[in-house]
Formats: sequence, structure tokens, C-alpha cells
Amino acid sequence: MSVEDLHAELVELLGARGASIDLRAREKASVDGAKMSPIITELLPLGLADIVAFPTNAVEIAAVVAAAVRHGVGITPRGKGTGNYGQGIPLQDGLVLDLSKARSIIEVGDGYITAEAGAPMVALEQAARETGQELWMYPSTAQSSIGGFLAGGSGGTGSIVHGANHQGFVAALDVVHASPEARLVHVEGDDAQPYVHNYGTAGIIAQATVRLDPVHDWVGFYASFDTFYDVLAVLREMRALTPTPRLISADLPEIADALPNDSAIPKGRASLRAILDTASLDAARAMVEAGSGRVEEVREGPQACVRISTLSYNHPIEWLQKTSPGTYFHLEVGGEALIDRIDEVHAVFRGGMLHIEAQHVGPIGMLAGIYESPEQVYAGIEALGKLGVGVHSPHQWNVDFEIERTVELARENDPLGLLNPGKLNLDYAGPRKGAIR
Ligand SMILES: Cc1cc2nc3c(=O)[nH]c(=O)nc-3n(C[C@H](O)[C@H](O)[C@H](O)COP(=O)(O)OP(=O)(O)OC[C@H]3O[C@@H](n4cnc5c(N)ncnc54)[C@H](O)[C@@H]3O)c2cc1C
Repeated sequence: MSVEDLHAELVELLGARGASIDLRAREKASVDGAKMSPIITELLPLGLADIVAFPTNAVEIAAVVAAAVRHGVGITPRGKGTGNYGQGIPLQDGLVLDLSKARSIIEVGDGYITAEAGAPMVALEQAARETGQELWMYPSTAQSSIGGFLAGGSGGTGSIVHGANHQGFVAALDVVHASPEARLVHVEGDDAQPYVHNYGTAGIIAQATVRLDPVHDWVGFYASFDTFYDVLAVLREMRALTPTPRLISADLPEIADALPNDSAIPKGRASLRAILDTASLDAARAMVEAGSGRVEEVREGPQACVRISTLSYNHPIEWLQKTSPGTYFHLEVGGEALIDRIDEVHAVFRGGMLHIEAQHVGPIGMLAGIYESPEQVYAGIEALGKLGVGVHSPHQWNVDFEIERTVELARENDPLGLLNPGKLNLDYAGPRKGAIR
């Protein structure tokens, strides 16, 4: 491997500002949201980029990958770096391929949008809205990139209807394999799905076409309840509203109190936040009132809805961690047992607290607990399995979705193992039992 030669070639290709060996740039490109995991935090730093490259379009992405392959340098792709398991950390150093400057929206058509990998999800949503459409889904990290969301994320606002991002959201991709010749490979439909949710280990997404729905007249809906039990019963009922809500999130008073101050999230009360079609507003109000809750506020406009999205999925746990630094870890959990057996679920960990989201397959959530040791976390995963709760551990960076399929594809597309090295491990047999993805 020749980092110096690769740097010289990348400067020639992208200009002096297109490739950096500056220590600060390399350090910045070598971290992601892994600090949410106390287990991974203990292992940091896990790698340091030798070079960071900033291609500005899909063609340049292919050219940078080809150059790295010719020099035998490992390539870790990076969008906004918000992934929270260390999937974006260059475990074997090498090149970090920062895609955040390749961010053009290429086309918005009837039912689809095409954008370069680094385009932020909010920019895609905005472009879609200008044509009377909206994304099937976007994550609570709404500023994150489409490439990073497809390669590292799983779902978010819109998943109640459309499920995870590997379930038909992707219509087509232009991907780059680890080949010495710069080439964009166009894959569509079923052929595109094996590139989703495996951290770029089978190919780097340079451009993506994802699906759109006609836009709804959404409102941001806030309600509060005396207890979490009340809120769980209403969350379960609200999933059946017509039209289906775009998001329903709920928190215990202790987690709601950690969220940014907001008059619609009163202190000391369990909180429910939802993105609802105006046509279902009366029914939703009736459900809240029948469930001993009170509607705090209904807010109009796209910004009000994005605001609710940014308080969903991992975000409430992140706020909890901010208010009590060094105290809490979390697991991603799923299944009806989260509601049916909530007391037992909470009892698995000291200080156990569930943040819950409605999804089409049943609820999913983030279970926080007071951190003691890795063994405590692994024992808890077993205990949750016995309760019928599916678990995904955010405390490891291995590809743990469709591993065999990815290994097979990577053998073909990346024979030298240069794509996000260290993340694809055929022997990995982590906590997959009852997995939620
Ligand atoms: C507080 C918090 C809340 C979150 N909420 C959600 C949520 O609601 N839903 C959800 O699904 N996730 C969520 N995440 C995880 C993460 O933020 C999202 O998945 C996000 O969309 C990742 O995008 P990114 O641009 O930051 O990707 P990065 O973090 O930069 O990359 C993610 C992974 O994909 C790889 N990658 C990046 N770009 C490409 C590319 N173009 N081609 C191939 N591989 C690539 C990286 O190497 C890495 O392995 C959350 C994380 C945090 C910390």
C-alpha cells in the first residue's frame, strides 16, 4: 500500500482541496456516533484515516475508488458520519471516502427521486415536496446522507407504512465496485437490494433512486399522559388510524423530561408525538381522550413534522445520555412483547426505560439501561429473547444483516477485501436470535 502515491494521484484528480492528509481532517473523518455505546467507547479510537477524499459527483467517486484499488488501499465510505455503531470508522486506516460533497439531486419523477450519495435526506424530502410528493421514509437524523441511510440505516419516519429501507424503498442504484477501472454499475429492483444495509462492503453507492408517495397533509400532534401504560395503549390503537400516521413515538416521563424544552412536552408526563394526516385528527383526539390523555398541541407545516422526526428513534436516548453523561447504554428492540410485557422488559436492566415507535410489523424501540459491563448487556440480550423481544445490538460493527448474501457479492465485487475492511465477518454470530431487522 502506498498512501503517498495515492494522495498525489487524488490531488491530481480532485484538486488540492479534494484530498487531505491533514491530521484534523483525518481525525474528523474517523469517528461516527459510536459514542452512544459505552462498550465501543471503551475501545476508541478504533482507526485513523491516512487520507480523506472529497469527490463532488458520482463520476469522481468511481475514479477515487479505482485509484485506491490500484494502490491497494482500503476504502471506508462516509456520508454524514452519524451511524451509531462504528460502521463508519476506518478500522484498518486507509482512505476515508467522504461523500458529503457529492450531493446533487439529479431528477424527481413520478414516484421516484434520484440523487447523489451525499445528498441529505431533508434535501430529498424538500425536492420531492416541490413536486407534490414525499419520501417513503427518512431517519431521525434527517440531515444524514441518502448513501449513508441506505448503507447504514434501517428506517424512520414513514416506516409504519413502508417498513425498513431494504423492503422496496430502493428502486435503483449506481454502485462502484472495488475495481481498478473507474466504473459506475447500474442496478435496479431486486438487483439493487443486496447493496442495502451492509455498510458499503459489497459496493459503494454513488447515486440512488428511491421511492416517493403523493404528499399528505400532515400535522405534528403532541399528547401527554399520566402514565406510560396509558400511552402504550393509545400508541397501539393509533397504528390503525386511516390514513396511517407517518410516525408515532412515545416516552416515559423520565425520557420525555430529557428532551429539549417544549410546551407541548410537559415535564413529568409520558409523551406521545405523532405525524398524522389531518383527516385522522378527530379520531386521534378521541383516542387520546378516551385513553385518559390530553392533546397538548397540533402544529402545522413541514417543519413541525421534521421537528417531531428529530425526536424519534435513537434521539430520545441520545438526549437521555446528554442529561446523564456516562450513565445509560441502549439496545434496539422490537415486538409486541414490548407492550404486552413492559414491566418485565423494564426489569431486565437496572434503570430500564423504553422509548417506543410504532411500525407496521409491530412496535420497535430503544431500551435504555444503566451501564455496568459488557457481560450485563449480553446477559440482558438473552433475557429479552426469552421474553419474546427481538434485539439488535448497537455495540458491534459487524455486518449482521444478510451476511452470507453480502459475503458472496463482496467476493465478486471486492476480491481484495478493500471495501470498508473489518466490517464483514462470515464467522460473526452475534446476538442475531430474534433479530429485529
Ligand atoms: C441520535 C441518532 C439517531 C438515529 N436515528 C436513526 C433513524 O431514525 N433511523 C435509522 O435508520 N438510523 C438512525 N441512526 C443511524 C444513522 O444516523 C442513520 O442510519 C443515517 O442515515 C446514516 O447516514 P450518514 O450519512 O450519517 O451515514 P454514515 O454514518 O456516514 O455511514 C453509515 C454507514 O454506511 C456506510 N456508507 C456511507 N455512505 C455510503 C455510501 N454512499 N455507499 C456505501 N456505504 C456508505 C459507512 O461506511 C457506514 O458504514 C441514528 C443515529 C443516531 C446517532
